[in-house]
Amino acid sequence: MKRTIKEVEELSGKKVLLRADFNVPLDENTNAILDTTRITEELPTIQYLVDAGAKLIVCSHLGRPNGVEEKYSLKPVADELAKHFEGKVTFCPVTIGTEAKKMVRKLKDGEILVLENVRFDEREEANDPKFAKELASLAEFYVNDAFGTAHRKHASTYGVAEILPSAIGFLIEKELSVIENAYTNPKRPFVAVLGGAKVKDKINVIKKLIDVADTVLIGGGMAFTFLAAQGKNIGDSLFAEENLNDAKNILKLAEKKGKKLLLPIDNVALENNKVYKVLEMHEGMEGLDIGPKTVKMFIKEIKKAGQIVWNGPVGKYEDKRFAKGTNKIAKAIAKSKAFSIIGGGDSISAINACGCAEQIDHLSTGGGASLKLMEGSSLPAVDIIGKVKKLKVANSKKKSSAKSKKAPAKTKCKKEKVEE
Ligand code: ADP
Ligand code: MG
Repeated sequence: MKRTIKEVEELSGKKVLLRADFNVPLDENTNAILDTTRITEELPTIQYLVDAGAKLIVCSHLGRPNGVEEKYSLKPVADELAKHFEGKVTFCPVTIGTEAKKMVRKLKDGEILVLENVRFDEREEANDPKFAKELASLAEFYVNDAFGTAHRKHASTYGVAEILPSAIGFLIEKELSVIENAYTNPKRPFVAVLGGAKVKDKINVIKKLIDVADTVLIGGGMAFTFLAAQGKNIGDSLFAEENLNDAKNILKLAEKKGKKLLLPIDNVALENNKVYKVLEMHEGMEGLDIGPKTVKMFIKEIKKAGQIVWNGPVGKYEDKRFAKGTNKIAKAIAKSKAFSIIGGGDSISAINACGCAEQIDHLSTGGGASLKLMEGSSLPAVDIIGKVKKLKVANSKKKSSAKSKKAPAKTKCKKEKVEE
């Protein structure tokens, strides 16, 4: 496991740059924050750093701005944060540069400065070394807690960690430890439920889960490529010809490893704008949800599970006519006593829509980052954490010249043991 903020000594008085994920949904007209979950989830890490007496500099992206676009300003996020840390939060209208440096200098221990959207500068996503250097020059230590962008090598998620000593925050720590535990020490039987539209997105997740789980249930649009691989007629359902061989290989792999891999035995299909429950598909028919027999078969496995990982709706759940399968699976997972993990934006929407998110043990909120974790891949922005053990020479020189003016010991960065 990577170094966490709890393992960092001497945060007091230190300028700490925190990369958070404040990519909150905003009202198009009023710019009001529609859902503050991403802010409230970050509060424990911020509270910890504030209590430790850090001078906290917070940065994040918001939306996909094309250069500076006022509607993607992080000002509303700073205002929201100010409700939780009264009198301690200041907003910095720029991300880097003289003005930002000036505002950082004014920070007192335990105060928070929210920088403007890192993506207002196109060099952020390019992981431009100069931009990363500018950003890093604001601080002495870096904390990454933006799980949603941890699979991206951007300046604020990766570049700064090549310059500053660093640690992960509580959100990333939780995501890593839950998946790591689930894979290395699963409660058995370990049942995986996989769905979604594209096989391509999930090949590695399926392979990984066939390896670590006992039973793999495949529904959703991607199930049809597997059914086609078995020679079944899938009518006009979603089919990824380029992944047909992957599907065949996965079926073989499951057999070789003695794992139970279950595919739909019936479907809810659309033909001439009419909905049918069918055992066999034919041309002109599009399978858009798993049928009642499949629901029953999947739920039987879910009921036996000691641990469940779910990624991807088993039908086109956005359309009420094809949401039944996904809803029933979601409810069965929620009802189960098994340790449950759900990842993927649509799967989380589905569990929220049926009002049972509370009964899930872990909701992995990272989208692409969750998928990477679930396929057992490492995340670049997490990998780089702890690579720099102490502040680089350019910074420490400044410190040592300040030393003659009686600089307190805390400005020196302690050599810390780092796990690679
Ligand atoms: P997640 O976001 O949970 O990882 P995905 O993005 O992989 O899930 O998949 C969700 C999408 O898959 C939804 O838009 C849903 O409509 C679509 N989908 C699921 N089953 C089918 C199907 N049988 N045919 C077409 N689309 C489907
Ligand atoms: Mg999705």
